[in-house]
Order: sequence, then C-alpha cells, then structure tokens
Amino acid sequence: MKQHFIANRWVAGASGEAIPVIDPSTGETFDALARGNNADIDAAVQAARTAYEGDWGRLTAAERGRLLYKLGQKMQDKAEELAQIEARDCGKPLKQARADAAAVVRYFEFYAGAADKLHGDTIPYQNGYTVLSVREPHGVTGHIIPWNYPLQIFGRSVGGALAAGNACVVKPAEDACLSLLRVAELAAEVGFPPGALNIVTGYGHEVGDALVKHRGIDHVSFTGSPAIGKVVVRAAAENHTPVTLELGGKSPQIVFADADFDAMLPVVVNAIVQNAGQTCSAGSRLLVERSAYEKVIDRLSTAFSQLRVGPSQMDLDCGPLIRHTQLQRVSAFLDEVRRDGLGIAAQSQIVPEAPKGGFYQAPTLVRDVPARHRLAQEEVFGPVIAAMPFDDEADAVRLANGTDYGLVASVWTRDGGRQMRIAKKVRSGQVFINNYGAGGGIELPFGGVKASGYGREKGFEALYGFTVLKTISIKHD
Ligand code: ADP
Repeated sequence: MKQHFIANRWVAGASGEAIPVIDPSTGETFDALARGNNADIDAAVQAARTAYEGDWGRLTAAERGRLLYKLGQKMQDKAEELAQIEARDCGKPLKQARADAAAVVRYFEFYAGAADKLHGDTIPYQNGYTVLSVREPHGVTGHIIPWNYPLQIFGRSVGGALAAGNACVVKPAEDACLSLLRVAELAAEVGFPPGALNIVTGYGHEVGDALVKHRGIDHVSFTGSPAIGKVVVRAAAENHTPVTLELGGKSPQIVFADADFDAMLPVVVNAIVQNAGQTCSAGSRLLVERSAYEKVIDRLSTAFSQLRVGPSQMDLDCGPLIRHTQLQRVSAFLDEVRRDGLGIAAQSQIVPEAPKGGFYQAPTLVRDVPARHRLAQEEVFGPVIAAMPFDDEADAVRLANGTDYGLVASVWTRDGGRQMRIAKKVRSGQVFINNYGAGGGIELPFGGVKASGYGREKGFEALYGFTVLKTISIKHD
C-alpha cells in the first residue's frame, strides 16, 4: 500500500484506511493508496509552512531553478519507469504515457530556467519617491490534480509554483496517484528540502475539501470538472483563498472548404482520440463548411474505422477510460444519440485481446448533431466527436461560441484574413490556426474563459498567478 509523502518521508495515513488502485485496462485492483483525512492535510500543510519559512524559502531563485532542473534530469533518467507507471495507472497507450513523461521533464526544464527571471518593476511616481513592485510567492500552495494527465498537470502547476518559490501540497486524483508519488520521492533524492513538495492521497470530497478549506493554504490550483470547480471556489471563499481554475471545454475545430485536409484529418482524429478523449482540451466538436461536409465526414469515417482500441501495454491508438463510471457516463451520451436518431458515421474497433473487465469505449463519430443537443453542449470526456455543418464565417463563429465553455478552438483554412477574423471573434483561451494543441505546449499560456475557468497555467504567464504583487513606495526627498 502506498503512503502519503510528507516532508520527504513516507507517512501512514491517520485513518489507516485504503483506496484501491485499479488498472483500467483489466478492471483489476493491483495496489492501494492511503485514504487521507484532515489530519494528513494538516501535517502536510505544516511541513510546507516549515519549508517555506526555512530551508526552501531561504534559497535564492537561482538555487531553486537549479533544483528544478535536477528534478527534470532525474525524471528524464526515469522517464521509461514513469511512463510505465502512468500507462498502467491511467490506462494510457504506452506512447501517450511516454509523451507525458517527456512533457513533465520539459515543464521542469522550462520553469527551472524561468525561476530567476521573474521580477517586478520600478514605477514612475511623484518627485521624491521611488516605487517598486515586487513579486512574492503566495507561500503554501494547494494543487488539486485530475486523473487524466497526472504527470503533465503536476508539471504545469507544481513546476510553476515551485519556481516562483512556493511550498506545495498536492492532492492527486484518487484514480491516478502513483506517478506523482514516485516524482515526489525523486524530488527528495535530488535535494528538495523536506516539506517543499508534499503529496496527500485520498478522495476529493475528503482530502481535497480539507486542503481547500485549510487556513494555512495561500492559493489553490484546481483542474477538474465545472461542477467541482464551483464547490472548490465556494470552499475557498471561506478564507478568501485565491483560486486558479481549469475546468475543461467543448472545443471546436472549424474547418473551411479551402483547408489542407491531408494536414487537418490526422490532427482532428488525434485531438479526440488522444487519452481516449479524456482531455480538457479535446477537440470534441467538428464544424465543417457545408460544401466540404460530406467529404470530411467520409474521410474521417475511414480514419475512425481503422483505429484500434486496447490495453495500455498493446500500445494501440486508444486505451480504456479511467473507470467504470466514466464508461457508463460516455455510454449514456451514446444512448441519447441513438434515442434521438442522430447518425453514428463511424466507430472504431476494440481488439478481441482487450480484457473483458477493462473500461473500453470505441471512438465514435456522430454526424449532424444539432447545436443545442447535449452532445454538442456538454463535455463527454470520452472519444466521441460531434460533427455539424456551417454556412459561412458568421455561422461558424456563432456555433463555436455557442456553448458555456471557451478553452481551445482551431481554424483550418488557407485564407489569412479569415484566420485572423475568426481567431479574434472566438471566445477561447487558446486559438490554433492550421494546427491543434491538445496537451503539451509547455511554453504556451493555457486556460479558459466562461465555464472553462480562469487564470492561466503553462508558459511564463503562469508564474504571475503563482505570485502576489507587492507595491513598495519609498519617500526619500
Ligand atoms: P473528474 O470528473 O474528472 O473526476 P473532478 O472534478 O471530480 O473531475 O476531480 C478532479 C479533482 O478534484 C480530483 O483530484 C478530485 O479528487 C478532486 N475533488 C473532487 N471533489 C472535490 C472537492 N469537493 N474538493 C476538492 N477537490 C475535489
């Protein structure tokens, strides 16, 4: 059974209770996690505070950067081990887990280099004054990580927070903790002072809630569902704790008839099939100019029917979903599609070798989805893409903006003017033109508008969110 990692030591949970760790490829239990509670969170927050006020907080920015870089290198050395852990724990095909391991290394390299380049300003003011703005860490930051990309989301969230000088308490999702426990152990090995990075495992409504409500937490980063995002913001409001929220999307791929289809098609497929569609920035809506609609549906149907779904170790195009309830959720969307008489244009194959107990869902292309249908409005978090035609630019923008979400959008066209007109009109945190960036994109600020959340992670921009700006006004004349 895995324990919590607090102050560079394995610590048994105060409750003594456990949570099973299930392999999504087989449905079998292969390990257990400590079921954390308030007392465990309290111990982790205290350890983080001690580090922040002591050995961690004392380091110069350059020294912090050097430690982050060392951890990046260590993770690089252990990349295959981390990928194997992640693949089994999350059910990812190995090549996808390897990409995640490479990404967490890049996050730590990036934030290592950024640590000593984050600074404030001097501000022109009245004669006789000098005014400075100083960027200070929040102090102890809480990080609630989902199960879809533990390594990557840890990299973008905790990497940035550590670089900015915070001490961190991390609550991974109950479905996928193993890679992060290993990373915390590696951090201790490369010399992070005890308490700089702590991991407490357990259920969201128990330890997640305790973390958000803890008075010793100075900032919370939450990545997860819109429903829980609201719960977290309400809980954080109790202590006026600031929150960064990333809550997923219903991201449109907008395809015009003049697009380079050969370039577009594999990217559109990957953006919904990667991680079995369990990606915040999955390209889950396909909007196609009417004159090219049938051609795109045809070509995409062929691509979908060739995809193969199976266990992580077979390393196919698509693995299982994370858990049984997620499979039920996705199946319920498809039941509705059939009930409402929508057309399933294509479905992929689950290979016969896939264990019967695994949580497999074949990638599915649904055509002519009405804009107000639940499949066109809500995040499925599974490999299901909703296609619909549009008539002109204005119609494309109206459809693209016609959900509660606004995380990522892409525009596929060779017309330069149209690229920029649409990029400016789409309400979205990121817009890709003739490309699509689900996952990855370490250097690119990422986050949403509307129900997709607020605040930015990734890139240099994230560091502003992990600091508070203090203004110091000095009167000298
Ligand atoms: P998903 O539907 O993808 O599982 P959730 O929003 O339920 O997304 O979970 C994302 C993360 O939020 C997980 O680490 C989960 O344990 C945590 N979580 C769930 N409920 C709460 C809560 N009430 N307070 C804080 N964290 C929570």
